[in-house]
This record gives sequence, structure tokens and C-alpha cells, in this order.
Amino acid sequence: MLNLDPRTIIVLAGVMGALMAVVLFFLRRNYPPSIKGLAEWTAAPIIIFVSTLLIGARGVIPDFLSVVAANLILLAGQVLFYFGSQRFLGVSPSFRFWGALIVVAAPVLVWYTHVEPSYAMRLLLIALLLILLSTSHAWLLLRKGIRSFATYLTAAALLLQTVVQALRFISAIGMPADNALFILSPAQTFYVATYTFSMLMVTIGAVLMATEKLRAELEHLATHDSLTGALNRRALMEACATELARCRRNQQVMSLLLIDLDHFKAINDNHGHLTGDRVLVDFVARIIPLLRQPDRVGRFGGEEFVVLLPETSLDQARVVAERIRAAVESGAAALPACTASIGVTVSLSDDANLDGILARADAALYQAKERGRNRVEVIALPAP
Ligand code: GH3
Ligand code: MG
Ligand code: MG
Repeated sequence: MLNLDPRTIIVLAGVMGALMAVVLFFLRRNYPPSIKGLAEWTAAPIIIFVSTLLIGARGVIPDFLSVVAANLILLAGQVLFYFGSQRFLGVSPSFRFWGALIVVAAPVLVWYTHVEPSYAMRLLLIALLLILLSTSHAWLLLRKGIRSFATYLTAAALLLQTVVQALRFISAIGMPADNALFILSPAQTFYVATYTFSMLMVTIGAVLMATEKLRAELEHLATHDSLTGALNRRALMEACATELARCRRNQQVMSLLLIDLDHFKAINDNHGHLTGDRVLVDFVARIIPLLRQPDRVGRFGGEEFVVLLPETSLDQARVVAERIRAAVESGAAALPACTASIGVTVSLSDDANLDGILARADAALYQAKERGRNRVEVIALPAP
């Protein structure tokens, strides 16, 4: 590696980045628009590729293009990459700050290229800006990104850039002003190769992060009810079955609440279906804060919901159910009044599957409806 010409490495890096841009371009075309930042992530490696071509043509084209323009384009590409990550993570891009930095850097770069040429001063300036940029970028990912391999890979690659640029920055202090980029020193080749490698890793990281997000979105679509955001029936039954199996292994119990909104047909008839929908959404939003982290809410169908309470006794479940009933009754001022009937049951040691538990919850719910609605009923014994 140390024998490779830095010019070759720089251009190769740009080509690899441009190839990754093709991958990102197709992700952008095929992925849903809910995955943001792909446009910036696609454009950035192409812009960086252009800058590498200009840097690679140093000595062949005018210095204004190969030094001033090339470095500003490189910076712009890196900033765009950062904006892509900001949009990907739902943060508004900080156009003003980075735009201003590039605007300020431009005349300084022109000065140290054409008026008082100094490679060392240019290097100090560019290294400093790149340090600021890659560190902010890595910090953003670590702070806002999900904890995953893709996030850590991208952040690590960015931090590697920070280290490389910091070493260059230190080496530039006291460097003779006439030093040049393409002098074949092992240190120079090392910087260029490491920077190149890390840039490629950042692009690969972006592809992985986008794919990971798509997978999470698809999984959410497949397991959640689109109206209320509660688990859908299939995911709910799966969660209940898994929990029951765990209970049986560990000799524990789980409780189940079957909740049905009272006279919901009348709400639809009197206020319209859309208002009915809003009542359902409000219902789920209202009960989630009343539950613990392992508890799950699912839409069983229509205006019927199930709450799964792992490691919860019947008495504790009754308290939760009563809390939910009261919260629904207190209602939202902007929506029609609504109440809920709740059937509560607990898993028994001979419940081999969910059928018996659901049948008992249903019987308890039926009792609650029979006894006047807006109430909680409990059935703990198996049906005779
Ligand atoms: P009860 O107190 O006996 O439960 O009476 P109810 O009117 O709630 O029961 P019923 O089963 O007769 O009516 C349920 C209604 O829920 C009928 C159906 O149109 C409505 N519904 C089911 N799903 C939705 C939905 O997604 N949105 C809206 N707005 N209404 C729904
Ligand atoms: Mg109902
Ligand atoms: Mg019903």
C-alpha cells in the first residue's frame, strides 16, 4: 500500500464512492419516501468524486481548479453527506452554519493558493473543517441513530477521519510552506489511504442504515394496526403465545384484558365514522401511558382490544383494568363521550394454549356488558 501513488489512491477512492452512489441511487428509487436523506447521500459521493478528479489532476489543470475548487467541492460533498444523515434521522439540516463556514473558507483558500501560496496553511484550514465536520457527523449518529452495527460502523469510520485529519493538522504545524500533496512520503500515503478507506466505509454504512430502517418500517407495517398503532391481531396472538410459553416454563402467570368499547355503533351513527376512528386512536393513546414496558396492547378486531400483562396476578390485572376503564370514561373533551367494558382473566397452570384464556376473558367481557357496561369483570376459573 505504501508504494501506491497517492494520486491513484485518491482517484480510486472517488471511483469507489461513485459506485456506492449508484447503489444509493437505486435505494432512493426503490425505497419508500419515508426514508429520508437518500438524495443527499447519493449526491455526496458523486460530488466528492468530482473533487477527487480535480485533486488528481493537480499540475495538469490550473491550481484554482485543482486546489481551491477541489477542496471546496470536497467540503461541500462532506457537508451534504452530513445533511443526508440529519434528514435520515429527522433533524433539520444546519444549512446556515455549514454554508457560512464554506463561504468563509473560500477566500482564505484563495489567499493561500494564489496570493501567499502555502500548502501548510491550506492543510490546516481544510483539516480543521473536516475534523469539525466528521466529529459532528459521528456525534449526530451516536446520539440520534438506533444502536446497530450500521450506525456504529458509520460513526467509527467518521471518527477515523477525525483522527486522520487531526494527525494531518498536527503534521502541518511547522511544515515548510512549499510542501506538496503528491510528494511520496509514507505518511502522506497513509493519510490519503486511510481517509479514502474511511470515506468508503461511511458510504457503505449509509447503505446499511437505510436498509435497516426499511426493514424496521416493513416489520412495523406487518405487525401493527395502521389506524391506532396498536399490535395487529396476528402479532398480538404471537406475543400472547410466546408469553404463555414463557409462563409455563417459569411457573409464572400472565393476565389478559379483553376490552370492548360500549355502544360504539352509536358513536359512528351519531358523529360519523371518522370521529369513530379518532375515538379508537385516542383510546389506544390514552391507555399506553397506564401500562408497563413489557405490557402489550393489540387490536383484536373492530372496537375490541386486548391488553397482555406478563407476570401479573389477577388482582394486579383488575387494578390495571379499573385504571383503564376510568381513563376511557374521563375521555377527551374534543371527542364524543365513550366508555369501555373489560373482561379480565389470568393464565392457569393447565392452559396449554390461548383458547381457554381468551374464552374466559370473553366470558368476563360478556358479563360486564350484561351487568350494565362501563365496568370490569373477572373470571379466573376454567369454564365448566
Ligand atoms: P356494545 O356496547 O354491545 O359493544 O355495542 P357496540 O355498538 O359497541 O357493538 P357492535 O359490535 O354492534 O358495534 C361495533 C361497531 O364498531 C360497529 C362497527 O361499524 C364499528 N367499527 C369497527 N371497526 C371500526 C373502525 O375501524 N372505525 C370505526 N369508526 N368504527 C368501527
Ligand atoms: Mg362495542
Ligand atoms: Mg365489539
